[in-house]
Amino acid sequence: MIIVVGSINMDVCLNVDKIPVPGETVMAEKVSKNCGGKGANQAVAAARLGAEVIMLGCVGEDENGDSLLHSLEMSGVKTEYVMKVPVASSSAYICISKKGDNSIVVDSSANRFVTVDYIEKNKFLFADAKYCILQMEIPVETIKCVIKLCRTYNVKIIFNPSPLSEFDVRLIQGVDYLIPNEIELSEIMGKKSDSLCDYDCIKFLKENEIGTLVVTLGSLGCKIFDNVNETVFIKTKEREAIDTTGAGDTFLGAFVTAISERKPIEYAANFANIASGIEVMRPGAQRSMPTREEVEYEYN
Ligand code: ATP
Repeated sequence: MIIVVGSINMDVCLNVDKIPVPGETVMAEKVSKNCGGKGANQAVAAARLGAEVIMLGCVGEDENGDSLLHSLEMSGVKTEYVMKVPVASSSAYICISKKGDNSIVVDSSANRFVTVDYIEKNKFLFADAKYCILQMEIPVETIKCVIKLCRTYNVKIIFNPSPLSEFDVRLIQGVDYLIPNEIELSEIMGKKSDSLCDYDCIKFLKENEIGTLVVTLGSLGCKIFDNVNETVFIKTKEREAIDTTGAGDTFLGAFVTAISERKPIEYAANFANIASGIEVMRPGAQRSMPTREEVEYEYN
């Protein structure tokens, strides 16, 4: 069983001619709402692919909260431990210009209620879990508490260091799997992304006692670093992307699904490349995540 501890957000997408500068007001040409949040997206990706997934997070007592829970449940995520709190559900307001630039403001109202107390109340769930997925859209104190619990109950930690605003390298020391994209990894390592080399990544892995580092590389695929094979590049088939929102989350959910089935790591990386490759060819995040049949059809 996989536990995902993380954010559950309603993404409010505002299509505009240009992103407003300070003091400017612009009109939206189209407004759409999509269920999102890194935690919820990763949970949906894994459940769609057949994993048993329990979500720990919070939604508000509002209409968005109901839609967010519904979207998780429709994909097979267990939501009975998601807490409804007396504030608005968290939202991400995403301004997308005609040129494709975006700017995002997150109102993390309900996500702030994913507290240490809430985790303590639900800690019995960790006794039966094998894997726990974490990202950084919930309070840092909660992340630290979950990491401690995972160590107590021998649950493997998959850490997606995103967003990096409150990142501290001590958080990831000793995690079993660290899965950043290239930009996140270069920021964590204090390097420019075009100057990242395999040697530095291996050194970083060893210094921080990380079990396996998987770096996603967009249309190129991903690279795996571990203490056994050192470096393996898993190339993917380049797709014509329509909407890459949720690509990283799909990759992560698919990767964990495969390793939770004890598949070899290279199989898991290929499986995840295919799942996220399918996802980028369709609009939306959760709704565009593939089923097991779709991924296996391409794998075979
Ligand atoms: P996002 O923030 O858009 O969700 P990300 O920046 O976290 O994504 P990426 O490295 O861009 O993560 O993409 C994750 C994975 O998605 C890649 O490792 C790859 O498998 C797949 N992917 C993304 N874009 C493409 C593409 N154009 N063609 C094929 N696969 C893709």
